[in-house]
Amino acid sequence: LTEKFSRLVKQVSGQARITESNVQDMLREVRMALLEADVALPVVRDFVARVKEKALGQEVLGSLKPGQALVGIVNRELAATMGEGVADINLVAQPPAVILMAGLQGAGKTTTTAKLAKHLIEKRKKKVLTVSGDVYRPAAIEQLKTVTRQAGAEWFPSTPDQKPLDIARAALDHAKRHFFDVLLVDTAGRLAIDEVLMAEIQQLHAALNPVETLFVVDAMQGQDAVNTAKAFKDALPLTGIVLTKTDGDSRGGAALSVRQVTGVPIKFAGVSEKIDGLEVFDAERHAGRILGMGDIVALVEQVTAGVDVAAAQKLAAKVKSGAGFDLNDFLGQLQQMKQMGGLSSIMDKLPAQMAAKATEADMSRAERDIRRKEGIINSMTPLERRKPELLKATRKRRIAAGAGVQVQEVNRLLNEFEQMQQMMKKMKGGGLMKMMKRMGG
Ligand code: GDP
Ligand code: MG
Repeated sequence: LTEKFSRLVKQVSGQARITESNVQDMLREVRMALLEADVALPVVRDFVARVKEKALGQEVLGSLKPGQALVGIVNRELAATMGEGVADINLVAQPPAVILMAGLQGAGKTTTTAKLAKHLIEKRKKKVLTVSGDVYRPAAIEQLKTVTRQAGAEWFPSTPDQKPLDIARAALDHAKRHFFDVLLVDTAGRLAIDEVLMAEIQQLHAALNPVETLFVVDAMQGQDAVNTAKAFKDALPLTGIVLTKTDGDSRGGAALSVRQVTGVPIKFAGVSEKIDGLEVFDAERHAGRILGMGDIVALVEQVTAGVDVAAAQKLAAKVKSGAGFDLNDFLGQLQQMKQMGGLSSIMDKLPAQMAAKATEADMSRAERDIRRKEGIINSMTPLERRKPELLKATRKRRIAAGAGVQVQEVNRLLNEFEQMQQMMKKMKGGGLMKMMKRMGG
């Protein structure tokens, strides 16, 4: 996308508005990018039409060109579409809260069941039981047992000669009597959708009355994801999606298709085979990936908005009140730099050609430098941070040893801090926001 797009962006530069005539070619590129990312065709059509409507007549802000502005609109619309709805698991139910896992064979249901168990134990402090209703493949039950152990949850035994419905009822009964907070029910998948499978999972749903029915879908599935999603949505009242294998090299267009077709939120993304490879779905990051290009607009936004306005104001007020600028404030500023997503995440957003120019080494050096400075300040006592004048040779040696650096580096940091402190005194808070923004840029 990038090269052709940059050319188009240039073609229409200097125009202040997105119009029917300058938007057509650009939208064609956007459409191609989405198709390349394996978003299903009807979903692409819908989406492009929506973007066009939003974009037409839009004033182009400041120094942005219509092309850049359009990329911004596309990106935001993608993120908004995929990011709508509540993330994380709903557990508002009379315990045990039942979570039913649905999806095709190989989608990642069993793996995700264990990942969710771990998430619920560690992040939500829940007592979790898992059970497998996959009686068609004996190995599947064993697999759940193994990964459940890894997750630190409890596993309810089942065997291939039982009926899934009986297994589910027995597990629910056990969960009630032993006061589990959550029961995760793993199910069988088939290679393709079939009626027996659908009828079975519908029965399970009716018997269990789950608070969450999660559709697990492989991010690499591409165009087919739409049909699968439709079939599961028609069979079950889905409450959320887990997009697995986002660590693969597909651009993950399935996310948009599946979100659109099911109308339920994408709650989690699988990011590795490992038990801790589950993250709350990040719609913005995923939008950038689907577009397959560095989004200059998002980069611009990130750089200007990355400065934490509230923190900056607090700092300004502090300086104004004469409370002085200490090493805690200095640390806060270092953290803001990191908060802007870190230098390498900004790199991710640059178009490939641009990013190639700044070498990896440059970026990681700059980032390491920030981290080292943080390490030094973190090795100081609270008192030392408030009163840097206490820092004489002995203390400096202790701090250097604590942070694993040479004493010279501690001195260098203190020099930098003093320079900034001088500047702060001169400004007395006025213009501080401006300066922080400049630091950000
Ligand atoms: P199920 O048939 O739906 O239960 O699928 P499984 O949980 O058995 O997963 C199928 C395969 O996909 C296994 O080899 C998993 O290790 C792998 N897998 C599942 N989720 C992820 C993921 O997020 N990333 C990667 N790389 N592999 C995954
Ligand atoms: Mg399985």
